[in-house]
Amino acid sequence: MTTIYQQLQTGDYDPVEAFEKAWERITRHEKTVNAFITIDDYNKLRVKAEEASKRIRSGEPRLLEGVLVAVKDNISTSWLPTTAGSRMLSCYQPPYNAYVVERLLEAGAIIVGKTNMDEFAMGSTGEFSAFGPTRNPWDLERVPGGSSSGSGAALAYRAVDLALGSDTGGSIRLPGAYTATVGLKPTYGAVSRRGLIPYANSLEQIGPMARSVIDTALLYKVISGYDPLDATSIKGPGIELERLQPADPSKLKICVIKEVLEASQKQVVAAFTRVIEKLEANGADVNYVSLKSQRYVLPTYYIIAMAEAASNLARYDGGIYNCGSLKMPTWEEQNIRVRSMLFGREVKRRIAMGVFVLSEGYRDEYYVLATRVRRMVRDEVLGLTRDCIIASPTSPVQPPRLGERISDPLSLYALDLATVTANLAGVPALQLPIATTSEGPVGIQLMARPWGEEDLFNTGLLIEEITGLRGVYAL
Ligand code: GLN
Repeated sequence: MTTIYQQLQTGDYDPVEAFEKAWERITRHEKTVNAFITIDDYNKLRVKAEEASKRIRSGEPRLLEGVLVAVKDNISTSWLPTTAGSRMLSCYQPPYNAYVVERLLEAGAIIVGKTNMDEFAMGSTGEFSAFGPTRNPWDLERVPGGSSSGSGAALAYRAVDLALGSDTGGSIRLPGAYTATVGLKPTYGAVSRRGLIPYANSLEQIGPMARSVIDTALLYKVISGYDPLDATSIKGPGIELERLQPADPSKLKICVIKEVLEASQKQVVAAFTRVIEKLEANGADVNYVSLKSQRYVLPTYYIIAMAEAASNLARYDGGIYNCGSLKMPTWEEQNIRVRSMLFGREVKRRIAMGVFVLSEGYRDEYYVLATRVRRMVRDEVLGLTRDCIIASPTSPVQPPRLGERISDPLSLYALDLATVTANLAGVPALQLPIATTSEGPVGIQLMARPWGEEDLFNTGLLIEEITGLRGVYAL
């Protein structure tokens, strides 16, 4: 399977043909899969594809000329609604584009639509969307992972070539694992969050998703970079695509987290171990290590994420974002009515918990303590990643069936066991597929030191060679 990057390089990418084929698949599968909240108009998209084809023929293509991209619906687009999967924003159309959207447009990409997601990115399965759940194209009875559910599913059924997700605690990587796609949670500060509807600012990053490692790197190149209008944006080393190549296994040191393996399902461990053993057979130095802070990562993450969520979501007070309906005589009545009616169950739970952990008398026991433990996690991860790529299964289980976990929040949160660590530590993490089975796909997660994206991509390219799973898709 040739990658989009290869097709662009050899001049084989034909935007009109690619768009027509993708549109055919969208027409056939979108009703069942529900990967998108909004899809742009066929005629408008077709014109853009024709313009891109012209530009290619005239010999002046840009980096992503005519490439079809899906954008998660918590990333602002000035010409398409941006709902964050919530009824609260069902009428909202932003007045400006997110930084990453500007970069996509400058690179010549065609934004096909906005993808379905758990409300305000709070979830691990996609089932908390106010616009109905997304189904997993590999098995329609299973979830595609969340919260960037639509981005993973749209890639898996080839509605688009590339997609943007956001990752606060695993929302790019979990859909990646469940839909056999590739996704990167970048180093904190590598990608501007300007125009991302905030959930938990200190944890989240926008990141690239694709069907191969090199295409993920290509999209990362386009969206990363310093943005003076995001106070947490950092000038990083950047990435040179020409330099990327499969890592030399004899120079590779891998640290497998024992605790995550022990918590994972048999089939997941089997697929993971097969890959690790092959790496070892090829000369990699594999170590099974203990991440001492592993048992604290979930509670620490959820305390911090909920505290930040409660603060962020205070802005939806019924004044601006309510479609102009639900007018009540006083601000207080309006506030209560709008928030009661337009926020979903999980969002309300998190606001309540977030306010609790920040409240006088409990703050020190919960929030402040969590920030201290976070530092401990970060120090431990930074120590390990100094000379090691940390590896583990991305998810302890294969994609759950729809409805299986939704009524038990703790069993849902447990899906994030392996992913939240990278967000707490601020380090980059790459997910890529290692198996597709009758129970659904399995993914591997690699973590590196801050700004170690190049190492992640190179290791990913090597694993892709080992598994042969490059450019796989369902349906
Ligand atoms: N499942 C995690 C949560 O619900 C992570 C979500 C995300 O990364 N946006 O908070």
